[in-house]
Amino acid sequence: MPAPRAPRGICEPSPNPSGRTLPLKVLGVNDGGGGGGGGRPRAVKPSRASRWRAGVLILVHVLIAAHIVQWWYSGRDGGVRSTLSPIEPSESMYTLRDGAVNAGFVVFAVGILSTVLLGRWFCGWACHVVALQDLCAWMMKKCGVYPKPFRTRLLLWVPLILALYMFVWPTFHRLALTPGFEAAGVEMPLWMGRSAPFPGFEGHFVVEDFWATFPPWYIAVPFLFICGFVTVYFLGGKGFCTYGCPYGGFFAPLDRFSPGRIVVNEDCHQCGHCTAACTSNVRVHEEVRDYGAVVDPGCMKCLDCVSVCPNGALSFSFTAPAVLKRPASDAARERRKQPSRLYDMELRHEVWLLAFFLAALFSIRGWLDMVPLLLAAGLASVVTFGVWKTFGLWRDPNVRAQNIQLKLKGRVRPAGWVWVLLTIAMVGVCAWSAWTRSLHWRAELKWATTLGVGSQAPYTPGFVAPPGVRREAEGALELLRRAGPRGEGGWGWSHTGHRLRVRAWLELVVGDYASAERSIAAIFDAERRVDPVLSADLLKIGAALGRTPEATAAVFDGLIASRERPGALYLGRAVLAGMMGDHAKALELAPKALDEGPASDPATISNTLKLMLQMGLVADATSIAERAVELRPKNTDLRFTLALAYVFGERPDDAVRELGRVLERRPEDLASLTLMAQVLDAMEKPEEAKAYAERIRKIHERSSGAGAR
Ligand code: SF4
Ligand code: SF4
Repeated sequence: MPAPRAPRGICEPSPNPSGRTLPLKVLGVNDGGGGGGGGRPRAVKPSRASRWRAGVLILVHVLIAAHIVQWWYSGRDGGVRSTLSPIEPSESMYTLRDGAVNAGFVVFAVGILSTVLLGRWFCGWACHVVALQDLCAWMMKKCGVYPKPFRTRLLLWVPLILALYMFVWPTFHRLALTPGFEAAGVEMPLWMGRSAPFPGFEGHFVVEDFWATFPPWYIAVPFLFICGFVTVYFLGGKGFCTYGCPYGGFFAPLDRFSPGRIVVNEDCHQCGHCTAACTSNVRVHEEVRDYGAVVDPGCMKCLDCVSVCPNGALSFSFTAPAVLKRPASDAARERRKQPSRLYDMELRHEVWLLAFFLAALFSIRGWLDMVPLLLAAGLASVVTFGVWKTFGLWRDPNVRAQNIQLKLKGRVRPAGWVWVLLTIAMVGVCAWSAWTRSLHWRAELKWATTLGVGSQAPYTPGFVAPPGVRREAEGALELLRRAGPRGEGGWGWSHTGHRLRVRAWLELVVGDYASAERSIAAIFDAERRVDPVLSADLLKIGAALGRTPEATAAVFDGLIASRERPGALYLGRAVLAGMMGDHAKALELAPKALDEGPASDPATISNTLKLMLQMGLVADATSIAERAVELRPKNTDLRFTLALAYVFGERPDDAVRELGRVLERRPEDLASLTLMAQVLDAMEKPEEAKAYAERIRKIHERSSGAGAR
C-alpha cells in the first residue's frame, strides 16, 4: 500500500540524491505552532495577502490592456494612432541612449526610489513577470508539481551583470570610455563600438507605434513560456527574478538599504510556516530569529509570511536597513558563521556554469535577429540548467530534474536520454547563433572601415575604391554571404533591413551596381515602410549604371507592382518622371506616395509635399501638410514642410508662426533659421531677420571651432 501523501502546504525534508537536504520543519501546536492538533504537523493556512496581491496584479494587467485598447482606438478615424509611451522599465534604455524621457523611465525611477524607501514592493505587487511566474507556479501546484528552487552563489550575480550591461555600460561608454580614448589621443578599436554624442533630454511621452520597441508575438509568446513555465519549473517559483531579471539586478541590492522590512515580535515560536509560505525562497523564520527582521534582498514584500503566521508575530515596519543589521545575539552570530544555505553544486562547478551562462546569453541574444536580452537571459538559464543536469547524468548514479527521474542507480532512463538530446539541440542552437553573429560582427567591422570613401562617391560613374577599401568590402561581403540564408549560399539566416543596407553599400563600393540594386529591392521587403532615401539611391544607381531613364523607370514600376503599399517608391518614380520631362505623370504619381493618407510616415510626407510644391501643387500640398501637422503636432519636419507650403502660398505670417514652433523644439535647426531669416527679410523686418542671421553665424562659428579642435 503506498504511503499516504503529506498534506498540502506542509514542508518536509525530501530525500536528495546528492545526500544533501534542506531541513525545514513545520511544527505543530505542541511544538509552538499555535492552534489545536496534539503535536501533529499543522498545515500552513492559506495566505490572504496572496489574494490581495493577485487582485492588484490582475488590475495591473487590466490597465495594460486598457492602454493597448486606447492606442488602437485612437486611430479609428483613419488618423494616426497615438498613446502614452509603454510603461515598461526597459524603455529607460532609450532615455539613457537617446535622451528620450518616457513613461517607462519615470516608472523605473519611481520603482527604484520606492525600493530604497520601502523595499521591493514594486517587484511583488506591480511586475507582470512576477504575476506570470506566480500564475505558472499556482497552475503547477494544481497539477501536483512543486518546483524546487535552484540554489547557487554565482548565478545570483547574473541580474546585476545584465543591469549593468543594459543601463550602465552605454552611459559609461559615452561619458568615460570615448572621452578617455580621445584624451589619450588613441583611436578607439572598432570592436568597442561608437557612441553618438548625447543629444540632451527631451520628453517622449506620446508614441504612435506602441509596438515599435516590443518584440513581435512569435517572440513574445516563447518569452512568456520560457520566463513563466520553464524557469519556474527548473529554477523555482521566482526563478526568473533570481537569475534572469536585470531590473532585479538593481532592486535587490537597493532593497538592502531600505528601512522598510518584515519584522518580528516576541510571539514567534519558530514554527517555520512563514518559510514554507515564502515563494521567494527566503528562510524567514531563521532571519527573523537571528536579525529580528527579514534581511534577504529576495524578499518582495508579498506579505504571505505575515498572513500565514499562526501567532501574528510578523508585520511590515520600518527598522534599520539590512546593510546595518547585525545578528541579535552571540548564538545568532555563531549560527550565521555557518553556511546559511545549502547549494545545489560545488563552487568550482558554479564558476564553469556562470561562464557557460554568459557565453550562452551573448550567443543566443539576437538569434535570427529576433531574441531580445530578457528572453536570451531566460533561454540561457534553461540551457545552463540543462547542461548542468547532463553533466550530472555523466557523473552521478542518480539524477532528478524536479519531479523527472533522469537516471536511477546508474541507469539513464528514457527521460534522461530525451533530456540529453534536448540539451544538445539547445547548445547547438547557441553555437549556430554565436557563429552567425560573429560573422555579422566581423562584417560590420570591415564595413565601418569602408565608410571613409564618402557617402556619395560610390554613386559617381567611374568610381573605383582604393585597393585597401575594396579588399575590406570584398571580405565583408564574403562574411555576409556565409552568414546569409541557405538560398544565398550561407549557413545563417535572412538579413535584416540594416544588414541589407550594409550589403548594398559594400556592393556599391566594389562597383557591383546590379547586386546593390537587388539588395535595395530586398530592403523594401524586409522593412515595413519604404524609405524615401532608398528610392533616391535607386535613382542614383540607375544614373551610375548609365541606364536609360526608361530602364530605371521599369525597375521602379516592377517594384511598385510587387508591393501592397509602395509608399515612397511612388515618390522616386514621380521624381524620375519629372526628370524625364513627363510632368503629367509626375503630378499623377506624387500624391500616391501618401498611400496611407496623412498617416504615412513623416519622411515620405515631407519629401512628397516638397516635390508637390516644386510642381506647383501648392493648395493640395498645404492642405495635406496642415492635416499631417494636426495629426502629429510635435513632428518638426512636418511643421517645417507646412511653413514651406505657406511660403509657396505667399502666407508669410503663417510661415513665421510655424517656423517659430519648430525653433521652440529645435532652436539650432539651420534650415528653419535660414528660412525664417529669409521670410522676415521679405516681410521687410530687417532687424528680426538680422537676429536670426546672427544665430546662424554663431552656430557655424561654434561648429567650425569644434572641428578645428
Ligand atoms: S514568524 Fe514564522 S516561524 Fe515565527 S511563529 Fe510566525 S510563522 Fe512561525
Ligand atoms: S519574506 Fe515574506 S514578504 Fe518577503 S517574499 Fe517571503 S513571504 Fe513575501
